Amino acid sequence: IKDLSFKYKNAKEYQIKNFGLEIEKGEIVALLGPSGSGKSTILRLISGLEVPNGGEILVNNNILYNKDKFIEPEKRGIGMVFQDYALFPHMTVEKNVLFGVGNVDKNEKQRILDEVLELVDMKEYKKRYPHELSGGQQQRIAIARALAPKPSLLLLDEPFSNLDADLRKKIRNEIKDILKKTHSTSIFVTHDIEDAKDVADRIINL
Ligand code: ATP
Ligand code: MG
Repeated sequence: IKDLSFKYKNAKEYQIKNFGLEIEKGEIVALLGPSGSGKSTILRLISGLEVPNGGEILVNNNILYNKDKFIEPEKRGIGMVFQDYALFPHMTVEKNVLFGVGNVDKNEKQRILDEVLELVDMKEYKKRYPHELSGGQQQRIAIARALAPKPSLLLLDEPFSNLDADLRKKIRNEIKDILKKTHSTSIFVTHDIEDAKDVADRIINL
């Protein structure tokens, strides 16, 4: 990310000013900073949900955004866990998790589903709808959904905020293992310095 700037349409001031960040392939970076400092905004800019006002975003030397170019979010191959989970309310757990999984056969889909649900301890909940789950369970499904398509870049916005201490530790360690095994790159936002120290190769303070 080079010299990125961004202002929400109705805002007076810029939320992101001349922001730059370089991350190595396979690196896990934690993004820390006070509430309102722009952490979620930066993730939304990287995933393409907001359009910057200037600067450049590149992944693997491909331009995702610059003054002449904007790649649509669904074409970026980036996984994201939103701060508010953003599960599809009209879809079961199974449908939510498999939403971004592309053209693979039924057996492979089932295998991926079981694998990611196992990871978040939610195998028994395939047929439930989001409103039939607790907050922490919804959060775990959001994590499973983001991991299912095996994105090469994974953005996590306070992915463990609603989990109890034991589950938090377990899931963050498993995510770290997966990311390292698959040489995936990840940026995760957290308020929790223990999360950051435990998972990240590098901590960035906004
Ligand atoms: P938190 O830790 O509370 O989640 P954050 O660091 O993720 O905070 P952002 O959500 O990125 O913060 O918000 C950065 C700034 O942009 C804040 O001042 C916020 O009020 C403002 N902001 C966020 N969304 C919008 C919006 N849709 N329109 C206008 N301003 C917004
Ligand atoms: Mg936020």
